[in-house]
Amino acid sequence: MNEATTVARLVCTDQAAARRISAYMAETLDANDTACGSFETDDGVWHVAVHFREPPDQHMVRELVALAADDAAAAALTFENVEAKDWVAESLSGLKPVRAGRFIVHGAHDRAAVKSNDLGIEIEAALAFGTGHHGTTRGCLLALDALAKQRRYQRVLDLGTGSGVLAIAAAKVFHTRILATDIDRIAVIAARSNAQLNRAAPKVTLAHATGTKAQIISAQAPYDLVFANILMAPLMRLAVPLSRLVAPHGRLVLSGLLPAHAKAILGIYGAQGLKLVRRIPLEGWMTLVLKRG
Ligand code: SAH
Repeated sequence: MNEATTVARLVCTDQAAARRISAYMAETLDANDTACGSFETDDGVWHVAVHFREPPDQHMVRELVALAADDAAAAALTFENVEAKDWVAESLSGLKPVRAGRFIVHGAHDRAAVKSNDLGIEIEAALAFGTGHHGTTRGCLLALDALAKQRRYQRVLDLGTGSGVLAIAAAKVFHTRILATDIDRIAVIAARSNAQLNRAAPKVTLAHATGTKAQIISAQAPYDLVFANILMAPLMRLAVPLSRLVAPHGRLVLSGLLPAHAKAILGIYGAQGLKLVRRIPLEGWMTLVLKRG
């Protein structure tokens, strides 16, 4: 955990540019070895930060930025080494709390931002994705907020839980047990600690699992609500087994997609009996809510 990792940073002209570059990098780079984010600091300036587990090929990273933006942006990119354990600590420190429906996701320094009607989710520094500042996480939280107003879900799966943010949010609204899994052991550790921090630990079961294969996932199936915010490629690969986990009348919330990918995803999940009920385009990303008919 304490080896050095690399972060590439870019100051952007505006929010749209930051979102676009960050979304492009996230889609192109391997999600297991990188974390991309765009955020606004208190001074109103927009930044992109890409964290790399291993030192990256800097030339390749500049080329990607040139493709997503232009040569000037590529030249302005800076690289620095940070301690691995400080990844999110560092990126959280300048961040504002994020609202999504009734939820507000915040770091320890912003506890005061949680008002009496809010459902606060505190995320602590860790090497896991899901501070709430990403359009995919916010899309899933908005979907959850709306679903929770319609009915109660009793069996919930959060596949690719990262920091645990969605599982914690679901535990807060449904007061039921949530199964949360991740392919990344470090994310599982981070999510467990965030669940404790939010007093959701008794409700959130965490497991290290790749895709849908783990016994613990099938043992509790089917689920009436499943979240999978894990990018296009794994969502395509997992379409058949993931769809099978969804109970009749259950909902499946998919994210990590670019808007251009939605049609292909709807085609492949449609063939598994899941129909679109809502699209949530946000910050260059698309969240889809599907229903088993
Ligand atoms: N659910 C969180 C985190 C999303 S990031 C949120 O909405 O913010 C995606 C997470 O999925 C990462 O932690 C990554 O390790 C995990 N992941 C990617 N592919 C996976 C797979 N095939 N099986 C399980 N987890 C996966």
